[in-house]
Amino acid sequence: MGHPQKLQEIMPSFWQILQRFWPYIQKQQALAIGSLLALLAEVGLRLLEPWPLKFVFDRVVDPTGEASGIPLIDNLAPTTLLWLSALGLVLVTGLRSLAAYGSTVGFALTGTRVLTEVRNDLYRHLQSLSLSFHTKAKGGELTIRVISDIGLLKDVVVTAFLPLLGNVLILVGMVALMFWLHLELMLLALLTVPLFYIATARLSSQIRDVSRKQRQREGAMAATAAESIGAIKIVKTLSLEETFAQTFSGQSHKSLKDGVKAKRLEASLERTVDLLIAIATAIVLGRGAQLVLNNALTPGDLLVFLSYLKNAFKPVKDFAKYTGRLAKGTAAGERIIDLLDQKPEVQDLPGAKPAPQFQGYVQFENITFAYEPGHPTLKDIDFSVAPGQQVALVGHSGSGKSTLTSLILRLYDPDRGCILIDGYDIREYTAVSLRAQISVVLQESLLFAGSIWENIAYGSPNATPEQIITAAKIANAHDFIQNLPQGYDTVVGERGVTLSGGQRQRIAIARAAVRQAPILILDEPTTGLDQENEQVVVEALERLAWGKTTFIIAHDLYLAARADLILYIENGCILERGTHQELMQANGRYAELYNLQAAQRDLNNRQEATHVTR
Ligand code: ADP
Repeated sequence: MGHPQKLQEIMPSFWQILQRFWPYIQKQQALAIGSLLALLAEVGLRLLEPWPLKFVFDRVVDPTGEASGIPLIDNLAPTTLLWLSALGLVLVTGLRSLAAYGSTVGFALTGTRVLTEVRNDLYRHLQSLSLSFHTKAKGGELTIRVISDIGLLKDVVVTAFLPLLGNVLILVGMVALMFWLHLELMLLALLTVPLFYIATARLSSQIRDVSRKQRQREGAMAATAAESIGAIKIVKTLSLEETFAQTFSGQSHKSLKDGVKAKRLEASLERTVDLLIAIATAIVLGRGAQLVLNNALTPGDLLVFLSYLKNAFKPVKDFAKYTGRLAKGTAAGERIIDLLDQKPEVQDLPGAKPAPQFQGYVQFENITFAYEPGHPTLKDIDFSVAPGQQVALVGHSGSGKSTLTSLILRLYDPDRGCILIDGYDIREYTAVSLRAQISVVLQESLLFAGSIWENIAYGSPNATPEQIITAAKIANAHDFIQNLPQGYDTVVGERGVTLSGGQRQRIAIARAAVRQAPILILDEPTTGLDQENEQVVVEALERLAWGKTTFIIAHDLYLAARADLILYIENGCILERGTHQELMQANGRYAELYNLQAAQRDLNNRQEATHVTR
């Protein structure tokens, strides 16, 4: 896979991500600056740490030693200096750990606040994207992005980027100080750098490869688990449990092996780095001691130098670990930005205004619409409906009925022609105000996790309890709701009480009813229900549709037959139009389909009757 893995490849995207999230970070300015100052203080104090030792060696152990050049220190009596140095040591270390604490907590807080806001915006943005985007993207994948990518990015910023930044600052600070302390010694120490590079580059890239493989395996493992648990019914019916268990344990075993391999490689990297530091230290120690004996260097300086040498290069061995994590984080960040950059296809036009209260006069004027350019799904659709009338859309599946209704909701905009409500193009209104006046009942109604109150109130968040109960009564739902364990407070949806298809449908109808919208769209609302449930739902729908301009998509032509206008749609065109009587008289496709269904119904009834009399 072409994911960047090296630090120099990751950094550009990382800066891009940082730039993109900059406005969010700016909102947390005070906290971010405070944390950065704490980080700088930590680095500075770490650089100071060996200095008290230097004074002890140069001025206390050898009182005749060379002056430090700092009058305040040179004027002190050796014992005072010793005590002050000891105190200084504790103070510097104490302050350093305080600063470290401040920067860790501060950055973690900044990261959490920034990313929580990004996540909220991302969620809002996802909901604003048009249906055409959501149809292409898989729902689950989006949830993963919203939840886990943000979490990953936060983790990476806190556990990889900041430590890396701290380490780089320390490395730069120490190297600069070492140059300043003694040029020749520093150049000698640098002799080992090429060795460092050769040894760590190879091991680091091996570690990256293994970790990447391990991540891929973990992904595959999660996919196997999700697949088999998600389809557990099929897995059980086909007795595939053992097969899946074997696949899973195979992947699990390999992932374990990779994990061990990564740890082994990390350990050998640590060993190599330690050894190289020892070699550099030996070289510096040898030459440094000579310099000290020749009075060209103080013992204290040598001590400071050696301590920097040891500490500066130690973090190098963690770089591989950090870059692996950074790569993961940048990939997550890029995916998030990708999503944020998606533009909603249906947008409010400039100057769009809130829709006035509709009467419900709907006209389609020569509408043509294509999901894929060049392959129109709807062609020259032209009809009108008076307020309170019912239009039935019938035809084979795939003929374009649902597409037609989604154009009324402005889930998509037509390519040609326009839709007018009460004489005005719906594109003149904001999408939100347009949709607020349209109720929809779909074939499979989704209940959200929450109480029945809440589920009905989703139709109209400001509804009073009385309005909700009235809506439930219209929907034939009041009685069964009252019989539930906690009545209207019963929790349904995910992990809640399970309701039958008919019951769910009636709650959805109540949701549509509470909205009191003048326009209603019913998309195969009774499909999949048994006869008994169907009867109650149809009754509820009739009450709901009373006085509203209603579009009903129905496979069952009995339901369609009552409509004021029936449109028979084939391949995106209106093939026949009229009332039931007119279409039956015309004896075309509608009549043919109707007769077929009537015969089927007759046959079913007769079979049932014989079954009962037996
Ligand atoms: P119906 O409601 O009559 O069953 P639809 O309006 O759902 O028909 O679909 C009409 C045609 O448009 C079908 O060929 C379907 O495959 C296609 N279609 C529906 N939704 C999309 C979409 N989001 N992207 C691309 N094609 C689609």
